[in-house]
Amino acid sequence: MVRNCTIPRRNKAPNPSCRTRTILLVDMDSFFSSIEMVEHPELVGLPVVVGADPKDGTGRGVVSTCSYEAREYGIRSGMPISKAYRLCPDARFLPVDMALYQTVSARIMKILRSYAYADKFQKVSIDEAFLDVKADDFEDAAGIARNIKKEILAKEKLISSIGIGPNKLVAKIASDIQKPDGLTVVTPGVVQEFLDPMPVTKIPGIGKKTEKTLKSMGIETIRDLRTYDVRKLVPGFGKWGYQMHDLACGIDESEVKEDFTVKSVGRELTFDEDTADPGVILDSIDALAGETIAALIETGYLFRTVSVKVRFEDFDTHTRARSIGFMSSDLKLVADISKKLVREFIGEKKIRLIGVRLSSLRKADTRQTSIDEFIR
Ligand SMILES: [Mg+2]
Repeated sequence: MVRNCTIPRRNKAPNPSCRTRTILLVDMDSFFSSIEMVEHPELVGLPVVVGADPKDGTGRGVVSTCSYEAREYGIRSGMPISKAYRLCPDARFLPVDMALYQTVSARIMKILRSYAYADKFQKVSIDEAFLDVKADDFEDAAGIARNIKKEILAKEKLISSIGIGPNKLVAKIASDIQKPDGLTVVTPGVVQEFLDPMPVTKIPGIGKKTEKTLKSMGIETIRDLRTYDVRKLVPGFGKWGYQMHDLACGIDESEVKEDFTVKSVGRELTFDEDTADPGVILDSIDALAGETIAALIETGYLFRTVSVKVRFEDFDTHTRARSIGFMSSDLKLVADISKKLVREFIGEKKIRLIGVRLSSLRKADTRQTSIDEFIR
């Protein structure tokens, strides 16, 4: 069922000569577990947890996603799988089948892209995308959104939530307020009224740390931020002070466009048992380096920075990074640097998780057939 919560428009768009944008953020509802339900219809209505193997409560790793029924038991994404098992041992626990989710995602993105105006389409994640649609007004845009929801439901048997606004910021926030199966339209005239009462953390980029700083300045809601003297934000936040003040005023002129750049590639491993054994740790680094390089080569990028992440048994987490003076895709280099970086953490304290990440990426020269040639 589509619940349409349209906040009535009060003002016409300020400048009729330029196109008022109607931007949609389409977000699939509990994407991975919903796909599993389509694959296994017998699971519909049951608490389903997708993630690491719970191994009767002794399993390691985390919940990747879960059904709304599982959420009723307090289970959440990112929670240790052992805790999820304690909360609901009768839930159906399924492994993550990323290849399947990616295939379904590609089909959904194709549907979404077909609704975008002049190719203004931007995939945000595996189950989320912005579309700039060609609509006469917001009512028309809501009709398009309903058609999108209908088409996805008919073709994939999956439900989605859509937010519509005059910019990406508003569309994104609107998509989140009526999940699942939501459709929320925020017209230009009511943007401020819509944003004002929300906590500042609704603004993308304002995380826990910024939230704390703002709170110490007496800023908790978007209204507090909007009415704060922007000049007083600059000493603490620099350029970001202006940007977040703009966002609080509902101003976001960023275009809907596809970002093809890959920022980083990485792989992590949670040990079945915490370990301080140098042999096990260094062998695992070798394996992770191999997987990470394979993923990098698949993207067609070269790296310049290698970083490692170490999480100890007490969840104390550290990262270390090193940059080299040239672009590379050399496995041995990644393995050697990662091992050098991780050695600092090998000692008394047992390690729970390690990871290898490659960043400062640049597209490999297409004329360069042999990457080895390039780095030597
Ligand atoms: Mg989603």
